[in-house]
Amino acid sequence: MTKAIYPGSFDPVTNGHLDIANRAAALFDELIICVYDVPQKTLMFSTEERVDLMKKAVEHLPNVRVVAYSGLTVNFAQRMNAKVIVRGLRMSSDFEREFEMALMNKKLGPDVELVCLMTSLEYQFISSSLLKEACELGGDIKNLVPQHVYTALAKKFGVAQESPK
Ligand code: ADP
Repeated sequence: MTKAIYPGSFDPVTNGHLDIANRAAALFDELIICVYDVPQKTLMFSTEERVDLMKKAVEHLPNVRVVAYSGLTVNFAQRMNAKVIVRGLRMSSDFEREFEMALMNKKLGPDVELVCLMTSLEYQFISSSLLKEACELGGDIKNLVPQHVYTALAKKFGVAQESPK
């Protein structure tokens, strides 16, 4: 049985994240989506909110669970007994960052492998940060996130919500 973790900030979860989660859930027996407690970036949603939004987004996947974590990702993988860390790649800058992190992780936890899944074409441009920026400026981001995430974002930004398409 192969267990994998999919770590990230998920601030908030987007359709791009979900695409990776769906595909990883089909590849591995068990997938643990782990929401990083204190990433080095300014967050819009609390850890609890990010976990709850993710839980609702993946409730259709029976072999997936969602937890919060802190500390080294590779240590967390070992604690969970997971052999694989899943990450998504959108562009070459993602690759460079992941490559660096993978080399460091290999030193710290040689028994844990990194598996990177390429983004699907339609999600290539989606990032949580760009999406929040667009939403704040009144852009229509409805189709880039699950409905309940759109509701949460609209609430944070005080955007009047239209009925979903
Ligand atoms: P982190 O701060 O760890 O990068 P993110 O929430 O930004 O957390 O991303 C988590 C993971 O999901 C990363 O591997 C990232 O590259 C991947 N990811 C983010 N958006 C997309 C997308 N649109 N398509 C594919 N992978 C994505």
